[in-house]
Amino acid sequence: MRLILLGPPGRGKGTQAARLVEKYRIAHLSTGDMLRAAVKAATPVGIRAKDIMARGELVPDEVVVGIVADRIGEPDAENGFILDGFPRTVPQAEALDRLLTERGLHLDAAIELKVDERILLDRIAKRIADMLGRGETPRADDTPEALIQRLHAYREQTAPLLAYYGKKGVLRTVNGMAEIPQVTEAIDRALRPGKTCPGG
Ligand code: ADP
Repeated sequence: MRLILLGPPGRGKGTQAARLVEKYRIAHLSTGDMLRAAVKAATPVGIRAKDIMARGELVPDEVVVGIVADRIGEPDAENGFILDGFPRTVPQAEALDRLLTERGLHLDAAIELKVDERILLDRIAKRIADMLGRGETPRADDTPEALIQRLHAYREQTAPLLAYYGKKGVLRTVNGMAEIPQVTEAIDRALRPGKTCPGG
């Protein structure tokens, strides 16, 4: 099973990805996690990405494409993977298509978690307040300014992927505003064999 999760920041992509990983025994490939690890380890990629990420902007395509190309070739991804946070631009999606074609692989589905942006901003603000309340440190890009930038990047650069995957007939849209178990169920339904994309 090879899947993509699409949706704006703060909508529980990581939570749903973790569950799909368990269910299908596939690798969880989160470019955000990989980049944060690179920043922490101060690798050349991390040094390049650090300030861009803190601002909530997108890291250059060639950097993330390079990371993903290496990662999908590793043994734990052989049985399949879920890409969480990648692709985020049309050039990244085209690069992914090439990477998969070279390996004789294909995508099973691109799952969109659809949300209402106004409610999302409130929820994210609450998540940050809760973390601070527990004495935890929010991510460097969990500031109101960076969040607005992350949502902007999603709208401008990532949302066009919905049409891209819609045309390919692999887009599955679920209501990302529902509670976690309901979102999980909706994803399960969307991935059932024989399910076709409306209009696709
Ligand atoms: P979220 O979905 O909550 O914004 P992620 O952990 O997926 O968080 O990403 C955090 C940041 O890492 C992004 O704002 C961006 O700077 C960088 N990043 C992650 N994935 C990509 C990608 N595919 N292309 C460009 N930048 C990326």
